[in-house]
Amino acid sequence: MLSTMSPAQPAPGLGRDEVLGPGLYVHVPFCHSECTYCDFYRVSYRDRAADAFLDGLSLELDGLPRDLRPRTVYVGGGTPSALKVDQLERLLGLLEPFWLPGQERTFEVNPRSATLPKIELLQRAGVTRVSFGAQTFGASALRMLGRRHGPEDIGRVYGLLRERIPSISFDLIFALPGRSLEEWDFDLTSALALRPDHLSIYSLIYEPGTPLAEAVGRGEVEPVPEGVEREMLLLAVSRATGAGYEHYEVSSYSLAGHRSRHNQAYWEQRDYIGVGPGAWTTLGSLRTMNAKDLDGYVRGLRERGVPPRLEERLGEAERLNEHILLRLRTADGLSLRGFRERAGRSLEEHSGGRLGQLVSRELLAADGDRIRLTLEGLCVADRIIAELMA
Ligand code: SF4
Repeated sequence: MLSTMSPAQPAPGLGRDEVLGPGLYVHVPFCHSECTYCDFYRVSYRDRAADAFLDGLSLELDGLPRDLRPRTVYVGGGTPSALKVDQLERLLGLLEPFWLPGQERTFEVNPRSATLPKIELLQRAGVTRVSFGAQTFGASALRMLGRRHGPEDIGRVYGLLRERIPSISFDLIFALPGRSLEEWDFDLTSALALRPDHLSIYSLIYEPGTPLAEAVGRGEVEPVPEGVEREMLLLAVSRATGAGYEHYEVSSYSLAGHRSRHNQAYWEQRDYIGVGPGAWTTLGSLRTMNAKDLDGYVRGLRERGVPPRLEERLGEAERLNEHILLRLRTADGLSLRGFRERAGRSLEEHSGGRLGQLVSRELLAADGDRIRLTLEGLCVADRIIAELMA
């Protein structure tokens, strides 16, 4: 079963009130590769397009409230490390007005494009955390995924990061077609031997429209059988927790003091502000998404001072369903009393009696006021959560 989290603490150097500003997410939409499973908004890296993006980003950041004090800053994409050194330096300069002492500042980096000069720039800017997109140590699996790095890049770049960045999160993907349980064990062993501060371990998702999903549709790629995927997940939980990592969210494992504060704010449904094309913002019930259109993003900011955006007002039913979805992903679980206060009815009523059934099938564990996924429940988490939503 997932272990229990303790309450979030303010970062050293910050008072409790000062950490409550929304998190800031920056979407850098460039990649050198086209990974076959990826459905994030991204375009192929081009020098001039990256300069134009930074022009647009500068204008968008200028439009943010002057008193914004983001509790965390997360730079993702795409691949932020795909930017050239001078572009990365400019990006860091644009973000400097939002830096606060003790703040968590995360950059996603890729084992191929994260060179020493770029890592040194991140270090000098006080980046506290990197999310390192290793994914697997299998050379043929990396090729199948369309990644540009090889297994040899992982250890080399990890070493450069380890000496310069305080906290490293290591991404791994399991249930890769053609990769056995023994090979997954090798991936886990290799990752754990590096002793990253955090592990993000995801099963491969065949997102509709991606080259990999289409290859499955044509019968060219065979997904890992469900039973093997389940064994792989259980192996990841037992290997990571056995090595001292806290399993604090479905896909997240952390050494003490290294949980992702930025992601934790998402799971707690806190407000966050996203900038860059394709980035989401949630402020209370208002959710906006910058259009997934780099040229339109730059043009909109140059001509009107705002990027093209989609906007939706979330109803209470949607917020409640998100609450179930996000809280049950965490080791903290969901407070039944909190749910009743918020929804005006119990979760048992909300779910049409399915909560009791899931507890009696031992897919959910009830512990006083809290319900959490059991280890069995973790293997079918998406189905359970869907059953509880109205
Ligand atoms: S590097 Fe990341 S964002 Fe870019 S294509 Fe691959 S998975 Fe997608």
